[in-house]
Amino acid sequence: MISLTLRFYGDLKELLLISHDGMPVHRRLPLPTSVKDLIEGCGVPHTEVDLVLVDREPASFSRLVEDGEYISIYPPFSTIELPSGQRLQQPLSGPARFLADVNLGKLAWYLRMAGFDTAYRNNAEDRELLEQMEEEKRILLTRDRKLLMHNAVEHGYLPRSDDPVEQLQEVFGRFHLLRETAPFTRCPHCNGRLRQVAKEDIIDRLEPLTKRHYQTFSQCPDCGQVYWSGSHLRRLDPRIRELLTTG
Ligand SMILES: [Zn+2]
Repeated sequence: MISLTLRFYGDLKELLLISHDGMPVHRRLPLPTSVKDLIEGCGVPHTEVDLVLVDREPASFSRLVEDGEYISIYPPFSTIELPSGQRLQQPLSGPARFLADVNLGKLAWYLRMAGFDTAYRNNAEDRELLEQMEEEKRILLTRDRKLLMHNAVEHGYLPRSDDPVEQLQEVFGRFHLLRETAPFTRCPHCNGRLRQVAKEDIIDRLEPLTKRHYQTFSQCPDCGQVYWSGSHLRRLDPRIRELLTTG
């Protein structure tokens, strides 16, 4: 039998599916297991963990644990820069692109509004999501822990809040999106890249008041939706407006 002590830090404590009272957790295992399986057995997907120390030494997810070890588990730090060799979350190799699961439609909408390439289908199965994530090198956003625990998931995030605006704030914080925003450049309906369109080309589609008050328009080449500056901003939650305008 292998006896271990685990200590989860930061908001990882809130993800634990075992009772802990904020204190270190004791686990007994019949067989050696990897750090990844050990942590995920407590309810925390590997995507949420950026540093693991085993008896104060940095460890990889694949390391096998041994009897008597003390394991400290940390979320990504926003204020401390870790040596890259110690970080378990690898930096993104290109611009942040997302794939939202079926329950995160509103978050997908907001990410597109902020200009981020975000794939979303409301009927995708887990297998299809994982395939698309790998093929298109997207960050998987889901509240399904089992899905995030797949080995194939290199970059992923489990939104903590039920509120889509707070989920957007979380994703911005986790992937440092503030400086990469390109508000109103992407179609929130279908993820198409908007392009400028001459007013006379779409004038027959405009309501009389829009026709009178707006001069600059863009259109989605994929679904044909027409946008003008007021159409995006109307009724927008002030918290989102702040994220979109402070980049
Ligand atoms: Zn569109």
